[in-house]
Amino acid sequence: MVTKVQKINPDNFIAEELEDACNILRSGGLVAFPTETVYGLGGDAFNPLASSKIYEAKGRPSDNPLIVHIASMEDLYRVADGITDSGLKLAEAFWPGPLTIIFKKKKEVPLSTTGGLSTVAVRMPSHAVAMELIRQSGVCIAAPSANKSGRPSPVKAEHVIDDLDGRIDMVIDGGGTGIGIESSIVDASGSGIVILRPGYITKDMLLNVVDNVTADPAIESRRPKEGITAKAPGMKYRHYAPEGELLIVEGSPSAVAGKINMLVEEKEKEGYKTAVIATDETKDLYKCEIIKSIGSRKNEASIAAGLYGILREMDYLGAQYIYSESFDNDILGGAVMNRMIKAAAYHIVHA
Ligand code: AMP
Ligand code: MG
Repeated sequence: MVTKVQKINPDNFIAEELEDACNILRSGGLVAFPTETVYGLGGDAFNPLASSKIYEAKGRPSDNPLIVHIASMEDLYRVADGITDSGLKLAEAFWPGPLTIIFKKKKEVPLSTTGGLSTVAVRMPSHAVAMELIRQSGVCIAAPSANKSGRPSPVKAEHVIDDLDGRIDMVIDGGGTGIGIESSIVDASGSGIVILRPGYITKDMLLNVVDNVTADPAIESRRPKEGITAKAPGMKYRHYAPEGELLIVEGSPSAVAGKINMLVEEKEKEGYKTAVIATDETKDLYKCEIIKSIGSRKNEASIAAGLYGILREMDYLGAQYIYSESFDNDILGGAVMNRMIKAAAYHIVHA
């Protein structure tokens, strides 16, 4: 299959530019498209063949459900049943935006879309291209991140092409995504609200709208704990990983730099290619051939936005041992570290 690349300027496009993409979606094909979080790999959520193609293209385990993207509140009632008051309040407060809400599913939503679960994850994205694609096609779009399973999520069309060229019908290239990490996921299908995946929408933001918010214990643990399985099936897999071995070093900036410089020297002596992930404020503290800044500590959104690009860059550069600072001092930090820790397969040391 030849993957068509369609360039679209999110700030200035006309309906005709999405016509091919809409036809592909309506006929059961796959289109990768930009959202405000990361690129999604979309197919018709009501077509079991389309969702099975998504799993195949990504190499995704079939028990890992997809998020259904919608463009209106009417769409919500097409996919979800027994919509809870608290879930509806969150939808009204945060949609369109980077919050995924889990409800009981309508029986028409195929089990292949929900990984066999009786619930469905739903999100209304705020990206102009994503919104228009859903609206114009009339398709509720099942879309996980548009990466090969286990790889860092794509934040540019080039990342999608690197992973999925020849495996999907089309990529809509709408430039870089804004937020750069996946949506927050909450379960609203029961009595309270449970956070299953941290993201740009934080617990405090949720608490401004509803009272009863807890976090799935599995997402807050820094070690894989026996007996604790993440409630979002996708959170249990090794994820976001670069090809090189990533180690996170935490502590004061000078202690971290001292420790990382020592580890770099050791590995370089053994002939390995090493790299450091630092920030604008700390990058001058390091001695290493490859030193990359993820963003500025004064602007935490820049760190979230820089995360996946930098993990992929490590692969392009052929880094075999990667040492990173820790980024958990700020509000978004929990969401960034949740992903970093998985990318590092739980390798963290204190300097
Ligand atoms: P992705 O879109 O690639 O970020 O993956 C979707 C995430 O949503 C995965 O972690 C899934 O496990 C999670 N998810 C989707 N549907 C459900 C559901 N019904 N219940 C729990 N988690 C879900
Ligand atoms: Mg994903």
